[in-house]
Amino acid sequence: MGSTRPKLEEYRAKRDFSVTKEPQGGSGAEADGIYVVQEHHARRLHYDLRLERDGVLKSWAVPKGVPEVVGEKRLAIEVEDHPIEYGSFEGTIPEGEYGAGTVSIWDRGNYKTLVWSGETIEVVMKGERLKGRYVLTRFKKAGEKGWLLFKAKDKTG
Ligand code: MN
Repeated sequence: MGSTRPKLEEYRAKRDFSVTKEPQGGSGAEADGIYVVQEHHARRLHYDLRLERDGVLKSWAVPKGVPEVVGEKRLAIEVEDHPIEYGSFEGTIPEGEYGAGTVSIWDRGNYKTLVWSGETIEVVMKGERLKGRYVLTRFKKAGEKGWLLFKAKDKTG
């Protein structure tokens, strides 16, 4: 699934985030990509967590939202990859369309990868709301697309 998008477009997509949202010090150079959490008032409210990886936004729908407290575990359902450009989308998707409802950006920033395997993803978020270590781990009880998402203690205290 190689990206065929023009380089300039790719550059712009990244620029939106790295220039305007760099709250925690730390240069974009030490990040592995951008992330965004979109609040999506669809038929059911949920939050879409998206992590830039391999030229796309890897995505999970998190019904109860991304936890901000260490130890809280939330169900996250893997959904389709989205184009990088979608990460800056806010607005209303019309009735009858896939994902119909209103989308707004709940948080965004950069992240660094600690682990990325088929079973476990561990990242450090540097955003406005989300900061620190987050873990996604496969949760097969919730089906093959099921994951658990939680905030972990920061190793550096
Ligand atoms: Mn959604």
